[in-house]
Amino acid sequence: MSFIENVKKVDALIVGTGPAAAACAKRLVDAGCETVALESRELPRHKACSGILSPRGHRFLLENFGPLPKEILHTPSSASGVTFHFPSMRSVSINFDGGPTPHLHRKYADHWAMLRSGAEIHDQTEFTGLSDKGTHVDVAATRDGLPVNYRARFVIGAEGPSLAVVRAVYPDYARKIPWFVVGQKFHPIIDCPLDDRYFHFWFNAELGHYTWSHARDGRQIVGVGFLKGDNFDARHQRVVEYLEKKHHVRLGPSESPEIVTANFGPSLINRYIFGRGRVLITGQAAGFFNMIAEGMSCALHSGAVAGEAAVEAFRTSKDIQRIYRGMIASEVRRCSDQWNPLEIAFGRPHEADFRAALKRLAPGERRGVIREIFSFIRLYAPLKWGRQILWQSVCRRFTGRYPSNRWL
Ligand SMILES: Cc1cc2nc3c(=O)[nH]c(=O)nc-3n(C[C@H](O)[C@H](O)[C@H](O)COP(=O)(O)OP(=O)(O)OC[C@H]3O[C@@H](n4cnc5c(N)ncnc54)[C@H](O)[C@@H]3O)c2cc1C
Repeated sequence: MSFIENVKKVDALIVGTGPAAAACAKRLVDAGCETVALESRELPRHKACSGILSPRGHRFLLENFGPLPKEILHTPSSASGVTFHFPSMRSVSINFDGGPTPHLHRKYADHWAMLRSGAEIHDQTEFTGLSDKGTHVDVAATRDGLPVNYRARFVIGAEGPSLAVVRAVYPDYARKIPWFVVGQKFHPIIDCPLDDRYFHFWFNAELGHYTWSHARDGRQIVGVGFLKGDNFDARHQRVVEYLEKKHHVRLGPSESPEIVTANFGPSLINRYIFGRGRVLITGQAAGFFNMIAEGMSCALHSGAVAGEAAVEAFRTSKDIQRIYRGMIASEVRRCSDQWNPLEIAFGRPHEADFRAALKRLAPGERRGVIREIFSFIRLYAPLKWGRQILWQSVCRRFTGRYPSNRWL
């Protein structure tokens, strides 16, 4: 890295130090590129996340960063799969393919991966803006309230739901997408019959768009997700009462509530945002979100693709957007397939066999579960995603891909 008139000059500047940033940094550093990652907070930083990793995410960490140290795991240290609960009180447990996966403590896991990428990390340094000059990008940041400037040949926005880089490239974007509120509270456990080897999810429209619970470090997490504008405490309390009444879960008073807003949705309707000019967007910022809000594996893989695209652009001097958009299509396929009703009906887009679990039910039970899933999906009707999902699914079926003309 060199300094020109107080400007730090690098090959690639990554905004963020989450999984997408770590994977991107790994590809760039491995190719010999001078890479700096900016993080607005002090590392290791907290991250509101259940920490349930898909088998594919687990494989990525092992192959790229090596064996996982126990310090980056919560208790229980692994998850066997997901249990779906329905209003009729039917429950279906589905194991991950290939056995349990690690239960990541994001604060330490993200930092571990980032350090292992070999990139230079500038924490407590907040990205504030950029100017794409055609041959390079000038980046403005602040540290301790003072301006810090960078000049990078390419910038990769891996800033997650803050959309800081996205806003710099497409100022209107964040205003045009639906935002979900996701909140969780941690409870002491008095008695909890929910199996602590599983992540529990409720297909129950009465409880909200996204309702979950699982064990962590001797506490029980109860979480709710809903469209922005609703009351978190009231929604959360309703779920706690429901769990007590229906599942005999007895919990102590909640501690340390966490509320975040999430840009959940673009992957369902193939509306990703991949950047402009010499700026790439990746991970959750780009819209990657797998089913049951599993976002780490697609963040890791899309981040790696962004890094590979930048390396390819350095090597060939070809247009980085063209390279990235060509390469990222495979990750779009994997991610959007998870929400695609035709793929779910006729393919096998998840790394857990839902259809096999359904087949184990008696035919009447199975029909009942399918009815309950459809009735839950109606909750999303106001978002008007139904037709878009269907049309994108048909395109995918007949062309083998999702149309790239819907991406920004
Ligand atoms: C409650 C909850 C539970 C979840 N549970 C799971 C789960 O069990 N499994 C799973 O796979 N996924 C889960 N997710 C989703 C998952 O956490 C995300 O999809 C994933 O972290 C996205 O990774 P990323 O690298 O794209 O972004 P992030 O992990 O969000 O990383 C972005 C980083 O950029 C930094 N940053 C932001 N703005 C700036 C700025 N201006 N300047 C500098 N730095 C900046 C942030 O501080 C952060 O460190 C959950 C999400 C929530 C909200």
